[in-house]
Amino acid sequence: MGWQGRMAIVTTSRRTLAGAVAAAAVASALLATIAARSGATAQPSLTVRVPPPATDRIYGSPLARGRPIVVIDAGHGGRDPGARSVSGDIAEKDLTLALAGELRDDLVKRGRVRVAMTRDDDRYLTLEDRAAVARRLNAAMFVSLHMDSAPNALARGASVYSLSDIASDAEAAHFAATQNAGAVADGPGSSVQAILSDLAMRTQMSASADLASRLVNKSAGRFELRPQPHRFAAFHVLRRAATPAVLFEAGYISNADDEVLLRDTAHRSAIALALAQAIEADVAARSRH
Ligand SMILES: [Zn+2]
Repeated sequence: MGWQGRMAIVTTSRRTLAGAVAAAAVASALLATIAARSGATAQPSLTVRVPPPATDRIYGSPLARGRPIVVIDAGHGGRDPGARSVSGDIAEKDLTLALAGELRDDLVKRGRVRVAMTRDDDRYLTLEDRAAVARRLNAAMFVSLHMDSAPNALARGASVYSLSDIASDAEAAHFAATQNAGAVADGPGSSVQAILSDLAMRTQMSASADLASRLVNKSAGRFELRPQPHRFAAFHVLRRAATPAVLFEAGYISNADDEVLLRDTAHRSAIALALAQAIEADVAARSRH
């Protein structure tokens, strides 16, 4: 009920002069409150606090204490909605956040790794904000989640991109260039220059490729993959994460069938489980070296 409804009850339930005065007082108090609120919204700079750009909160079961940290990056957010679905009903940023939350919960429940998220709500982050979370936490890996979209309405299936100097194909090169475009405006220190030595960069690239193959292997037979599902390109956000890093495209929201699947919790659970198993296998394999 709004304030008009409340005023109506007050004025009809009071019949005496005193009651009418009381009603008028309530009405003026309500009007004063409304005036104060609209005054506050007219000058948001006085009251709005800017939240930290990204979160360093670590999720984990007590048993996972000291275990490697996996950073899950829900693509897009806030004023960057990402692609819009073919039905027009949902944006990429909402589906990436849903899948990121489901993957986090799976990993935490299974207890073999700890998890951090670049965002756990609808907020805008630069690519550098995202990569910086992995560096600050000295993360064991960085997994960025996206939903694909293409002019060809028939294109469907999931794919994984890993970091490389040389793109696997023209489409991957174009995709990385589009992703990297936002990084130019990110501010100082965010250009695509390497922050690691050449040797460290080679190691990061080959470990990223291993992680991507594991993701493909665990996904195969559980949900549809694109032809040649593992692709390579020079992604700014993956390079700057300074740890094995992949970009996972869960399917095409530009395809009507994929959109239905990606909006379905059961389908996303199957994806989250495959990702969780691949992540754990990768952490286990690297801890044996
Ligand atoms: Zn995206």
